[in-house]
Amino acid sequence: MNEAAAQLWAEWSAGRLCLQQCTACGRSQQPPGPVCSWCHSTSLTLADIDGSAELVSWSTVHRAPTKAFADQVPYTLALVRVPDGALLEVRVAGDEGAESWKAGMPVVLALGTVVDRALPTGRVAG
Ligand SMILES: [Zn+2]
Repeated sequence: MNEAAAQLWAEWSAGRLCLQQCTACGRSQQPPGPVCSWCHSTSLTLADIDGSAELVSWSTVHRAPTKAFADQVPYTLALVRVPDGALLEVRVAGDEGAESWKAGMPVVLALGTVVDRALPTGRVAG
């Protein structure tokens, strides 16, 4: 794991909902890296996010990709966009109504636990 990713995972484990953000252009990115994927600046920091996002796409997983997920299927993964443009793939709670979801619906992000790791998770609102 690279240093930027290790720092982000440590903050999530400590309960801080944040993403790597570029101090040059102000946009966030996920996964974190050594340069901004938007403007290629190396001036990056971790910044809190407010948890707002927009649903882009989603899929329900019925076959566990590894044994670690065997007792969790079915579950829904969603690609969500935070306001500054970064895309995150998150586990979605409350996915019983997923057949009626539409792209663009609001998603509320919060830290959750997936296979013993603190990760941003989402709940579709609306
Ligand atoms: Zn940038």
